[in-house]
Amino acid sequence: MREQIEILATLQEVDRGIKEKSGARGALLAELQKKQEEIQARNSEMTALRGEWEGKEKARREKELQLQDENKKATDKRMRMTRIKNIKELQALQREIDQIKQGNSQLEEELIKLMEELEVSAASVRAKEEELKQLEDAWKEKRGGIEAEVAGIDKAVADASAVRQSIAARLNRELIGRYELIFSRRGGTAVVSVAEGICQGCFMNIPPQLWNEIIRSDKLILCPSCHRILYHKPAVPSDKHL
Ligand SMILES: [Zn+2]
Repeated sequence: MREQIEILATLQEVDRGIKEKSGARGALLAELQKKQEEIQARNSEMTALRGEWEGKEKARREKELQLQDENKKATDKRMRMTRIKNIKELQALQREIDQIKQGNSQLEEELIKLMEELEVSAASVRAKEEELKQLEDAWKEKRGGIEAEVAGIDKAVADASAVRQSIAARLNRELIGRYELIFSRRGGTAVVSVAEGICQGCFMNIPPQLWNEIIRSDKLILCPSCHRILYHKPAVPSDKHL
């Protein structure tokens, strides 16, 4: 059992390395995801701004056409005036022309206002485009680095997994099963040594009777308080037991 637990402790070292790397990998992927979402949000923001500009531009074109139309109507009426002799009809036509002129000056005012708004709108679209471009350029560089880092981690994890497999091959299956359960429940520490009668996992005292059993190490002993696998590691490595 002693040898098995010592192998288990080696396995734990490898597993800790894998766990740490997986955590780092997850953080990097989360960063990628977060940035991707940020860029996406900025893109939608810009699409909305562009839509706003397009709406105003459409309104401007419509007003422009309306103005042309009204101007043409006024011109037609003026042409008609040259052919009319009746004073009342002439006066009526003149009133109509005056009304059109009045309407047109209002249209022109609206057009000027719209064009001012269009300028502001176009400026904010340009500013957003520039901002987004800078963000994307900076991100492109950084993303490459992160992706390379993730690839490096994947390689290291693959290597560590191969090492793990060869270590695990020397262990009892049932023991590995128990170990893995404790490892996942106890934050990556399943096998702990006992030093001066104290569990190095939870730092509680080990009863003397249990301590003797650990020294004998002929069966699996769990810490009564943290339920981790206990083993005795001599403080000073010696060659006496060889
Ligand atoms: Zn403990």
